[in-house]
Formats: sequence, structure tokens, C-alpha cells
Amino acid sequence: MSVSPARIPLVDLKASYARHRAGIDAAMAEVIENTRFIQGRELAEFEASFAAFCGTRHAIGVGSGTAALHLVLHALGVGPGDAVAVPSHTFIATAEPITWLGATPRFVEIDPETGGMDTAALKSVIGDVKVVMPVHIHGQPVDLAGIAALAADAGVPLVEDAAQAHGAEYTLGTGETVRAGGYSVAGCFSFYPGKNLGAFGDAGAVTTDDDDFAAQVRMLRDHGRTTKYEHEIIGFAHRMDTLQAAVLGVKLSTLDADNDRRRDLAAAYTRQLAGVGDLAPLSEAPGRRGVFHHYVVRTAHRDELLAHLHAAGIGAGIHYPLPLHLQPAYASLGVRRGDLPETEAFAAQCLSLPIYPELTTAQQERVVAEVEAFFARVS
Ligand SMILES: *Cc1c(COP(=O)(O)O)cnc(C)c1O
Repeated sequence: MSVSPARIPLVDLKASYARHRAGIDAAMAEVIENTRFIQGRELAEFEASFAAFCGTRHAIGVGSGTAALHLVLHALGVGPGDAVAVPSHTFIATAEPITWLGATPRFVEIDPETGGMDTAALKSVIGDVKVVMPVHIHGQPVDLAGIAALAADAGVPLVEDAAQAHGAEYTLGTGETVRAGGYSVAGCFSFYPGKNLGAFGDAGAVTTDDDDFAAQVRMLRDHGRTTKYEHEIIGFAHRMDTLQAAVLGVKLSTLDADNDRRRDLAAAYTRQLAGVGDLAPLSEAPGRRGVFHHYVVRTAHRDELLAHLHAAGIGAGIHYPLPLHLQPAYASLGVRRGDLPETEAFAAQCLSLPIYPELTTAQQERVVAEVEAFFARVS
């Protein structure tokens, strides 16, 4: 009887904890010992480190990536009657805060090569929107300079949903390199456990170079407070716990190396899967350096390949099977199937293969072998 090989998950949070265990346990113990659960020293320390990582003047720790988006759009005055340009190929959290504020998401078609917001498609709606908010989806930077130029011409603020793109880089025409969340009014990050930088629960951050905007977001995240008993504006309970900041501070120290490992794994997948069946990996546009939150391939045989990999004990996934404009929750917007053909084709064909810094070469070779075995049968 042969022993079936161990499962390979889509992400492995246990392996991540095992690497950081000593540092995380000590950091958490110290927060607990000092009972600095809310706005403790570790939060300010993490904020300074994360701002340095992103190359921004400020990072403000908040309760989740969704909270970051909510605070930023609120601070920009988004409200009833407004529209915000977002892609439909994204997680629903990109759009929900727009709806909470009484505004409407305006779904923009994607560039099928990268999965990100298409600059030409944005051009036709830019005159109708209050804010432009592309998503660096799968950890691949969007056409930041192109989108920023359009937004600047129209006088519309640019916000980056960088929830999947911690450390992703974009080289500007001047040769200067900026990181995701560092080339707009504000970047919104998620530290959901499975993200490239993941907390032990919900957490997020807002990055910005604007001192006044940073002060506004700091106030808004904490009940509109200026001092303990003084509330200048109506705010929210969108703080990041000190315990989460302590965990994130430890894990941030290896994030650049972890992203490099993801890039190496992605390059190995792309090399080994070249010419296998009809597989097409996402391309990395010139001047952009992705951080491979997901490793995405497209194939017309997506559902069969997914079933094959699952049967072989390999945790492949789909990000995302149903675009936002086709979600029941957004049916009332009246955007129909067929209205965003590139987005819909992407959703029908995309498949995410396991990628995380601790994925071993042997594990990756097994994933590749199973993909090859599948296509040997279908073709
Ligand atoms: C994860 C994610 C969010 C939301 O972040 P949470 O921390 O889960 O609230 C928003 N946008 C995108 C693109 C995401 O992947």
C-alpha cells in the first residue's frame, strides 16, 4: 500500500508561525504583561516601521483592510450621489465601504495581462467619479503612473487598494521606484492572516505622505478623539489592537526576504509550466515588480484542473470566481453579464496555485507534476 503524500495547502500559516515563533511569543507576552492592549507602544513602533517599508511619511494602524478603505473614503468626503471607480475583479471589501457611505462603485474593466484596472477603460469614466481606486490585485502593481496622470488631469484623488501588494514596486518614468501605497493620496493595506504580511486576526493600515490627511485618519479611527475626553468629529472604532501590532512588527522584519522567495517561486512556476497545455501565467509588465500574493494562471480547463489538484491533495484556489458586478449583493446596480467581458473571462479561467515563502522546491515540483499529469490527459 502506498502512502499518499502530504497535502500541500494554498497558504501555510502554521509554517509561518513556526519560523517566527520565538519572536512572536515574546512580543505578545510583553504586551500582555504590560496590559497595553489599546494604542500601546508596539502600535506606534509598527506604524513607523511599516511607513519606512512603504516609503511613506505615515502609516496608521487600523482594525482591518476594509476599515482602512472605509476611513480613507470617508476622509475624502465620499457620500451619497458620488461614484468611485474600482475594478470588478477584486474582493468585495474594495467596494463595500463605498456602498456604506451611500456612494456607488463604478466598475472599470481590467487589463487581461495583469488583472488590474485598465487605464484606457478608466479614461471613459473619470469625469463621473469622486475617487479613483485601483487594486494591485494578486500583488501585481497596476499602471500607477498612467492612472495617476489621468486622475491628476481630472482633479480626482487616487487611492490604492494595496491589500494584496505589501512591498510591490513600480518604477516611474523618472527612474524613481515607489512601493504600493506610496504613490497616491492614501494606500490601504490588509493584514488578514493569509496576506503577504498577516496578523493573528484582523488588522490593516493606511499609508499617506500628507500630514493633515494622516491626522484626520488617526482621529477617525479612534472615535474622532483629540484627547481622551474630547471628540472633535464623529469617528469610528477602527483601531488596530496592540497584540496585532506586536505580531506584525516581528513578521515585518522578514517581509522583503519573504517577497523575494515568492518571486523566485513564481519564476520557477512560470519556467516549468511554459508550454504545458493552454496555461498562461499573468505577465509582469515592464517596470513593475509584483509580490505574488497569488500565483495565477489562466486556462480554459480551469474547473477540471482545480478538481484534479484537489483530488491530488493540492490546495489550489480561485481568486475570484464571481466578479463584483455579478454578485447578488450588487444586482441592484444593473450591471449585467456581458458588460465587462475581460473581467468575466478572467473570472472563468483563473486558478491560483500554492505560493507562500515556506513552500519547498520539492512541494512546488509536486504541484507542477500534477498540473503536467492533468494536461497529459486532456490534450
Ligand atoms: C483582503 C482584502 C481587502 C480587505 O481586507 P480585510 O483586512 O480582510 O478587511 C480589501 N481589498 C482586497 C483586494 C483584499 O484582498
